[in-house]
Amino acid sequence: MKIETLLANLALNSDFKDPYGASHFPIYNTATFDLKKQEGNERIYDYSRSDNPTRNALENIFAKAENGFGCVCTNTGIAAISVLFETVLKNGDTVLVENDSYGGTYRLLKVLTEKNNIKTIYTDFTNLNLVEEELKNNEISLILCESPTNPSLKIIDLEEIGKLSKKYNTLFAVDNSMATFVSQKPLDLGADFSVFSTTKFISGHGSVTAGAVVSKTKELHQKVRFYANAYGNAQSPMDVYLTSLGLPTLVYRMKAQEESALIIAKFLKNFPQIKSVKFPALEDFEQYGLAKKQMSIIPAVLTIQFQDEETANQLINNTKLFEKKVSYGTSDSRLEIPAKMSHATNSKDSLASKGIDNATVRISVGLENTEDLIEDLSQALQ
Ligand SMILES: *Cc1c(COP(=O)(O)O)cnc(C)c1O
Repeated sequence: MKIETLLANLALNSDFKDPYGASHFPIYNTATFDLKKQEGNERIYDYSRSDNPTRNALENIFAKAENGFGCVCTNTGIAAISVLFETVLKNGDTVLVENDSYGGTYRLLKVLTEKNNIKTIYTDFTNLNLVEEELKNNEISLILCESPTNPSLKIIDLEEIGKLSKKYNTLFAVDNSMATFVSQKPLDLGADFSVFSTTKFISGHGSVTAGAVVSKTKELHQKVRFYANAYGNAQSPMDVYLTSLGLPTLVYRMKAQEESALIIAKFLKNFPQIKSVKFPALEDFEQYGLAKKQMSIIPAVLTIQFQDEETANQLINNTKLFEKKVSYGTSDSRLEIPAKMSHATNSKDSLASKGIDNATVRISVGLENTEDLIEDLSQALQ
C-alpha cells in the first residue's frame, strides 16, 4: 500500500475494530478498563499508561508507514529519544552521534554523561572514514543521526551508515523528524530504529508536542514498550487524536511546502546581504544527488547565512507572516536563529565549527500562498 492510501483512512488502516464503524478512531480518554468485560477479546487493556486503544491505532499506522515491527508513541519527540536511550544503553556505554544534532538531543546526552557515565562521541557522518574509525576504536552501543541534519542541512547516507552498523554489530537509530516516513524510510536502509518528533511536519499544525519510536524487530519493540511503560512517557489519547488529524494531508502538505520553499530559496539568492542559501532541492546544493536519491520529498527547511548579524536581525524583525518561533514543518511559516534558539544548548565551539552563528537564520516554509511569502520577505529585506 502506498503512503497516501495508508494515511487517507486511519480508522481502516490502523486495524481499529470499532463496533459502530466510526470514520475516525475514537478517543479513549480513560485511565482503566474493566477486565471482566473484555473476556474473549483478542487484545486486553487494563491501564492507559501501559496500553490504550487510541494510542495503539496511531502506533499501528506509524509501524506500517516506517515498515517496522511495532511503534510506541510518546508525549514528546525528546521522550522518544529518551526511551530509545533507556532501552539500549546501560551505565558507561558509548554512543556515536552525528555532530549536527538537535539541541535537545545534545542536552539529553550531556545529562546522561553526567548522571550515567554515558560517553558520547560526536563526528561528521558525511565522512564515512571518520565514522568507521570511531567504530573500530571504540565499543559503540548505538549510532544516532538525523538526515537532513539541522541547521547545517547535511545529508547522511543512511544506507552506508547502516552497512557500517552491521559490520561492527552496533544498533543504529535515525531521528526521522525532518524528512518523515513520507520522504524516507530508515528501517529499509539498514536502521534498527526510526525515532521522530511528530510535533513538526507529521502533526503539522503546531497544535501538539509528541513523538514515536518505531523498531524493526519484535524483540527491540518489546524492549521499547517495556521501558516506555516503566518510565511512563507514553502519549495521552487526546494528544494521539490531535496528532492523527495531520496525517491524511501529510504527503500533500510536504509537497506543497517543498515547491514553495524552492521558489523562496531561489528568490533569496538575489540579495547581496545574503552570503548563502542552503536548501537540498536547489540544483547547486552540495549533496543534491544524495538528497534526491534518499528522499522523495525535500522538507521545506532553509538555512540562510547573512553577511552579518545586523542584516539577519533586519529580516527577523521585519517579517509579518514569518513569525519568530522555533520548530518547523507547520502550516505557518516561521524563522529563527538556531545559535540563540533551537540549538542554544549546543556548544558555541561546535556551532562555530559548522559555520553557524548569530547571522545564520533557519526558515521553515508553511502553507501560505507563495507570492504572499515572497512579498513579506521582500519588504523585510528592503
Ligand atoms: C523537534 C525535534 C526533536 C524533539 O522533538 P520534541 O517534540 O520537540 O520533543 C528531536 N529531533 C529533531 C530532529 C527535532 O527537530
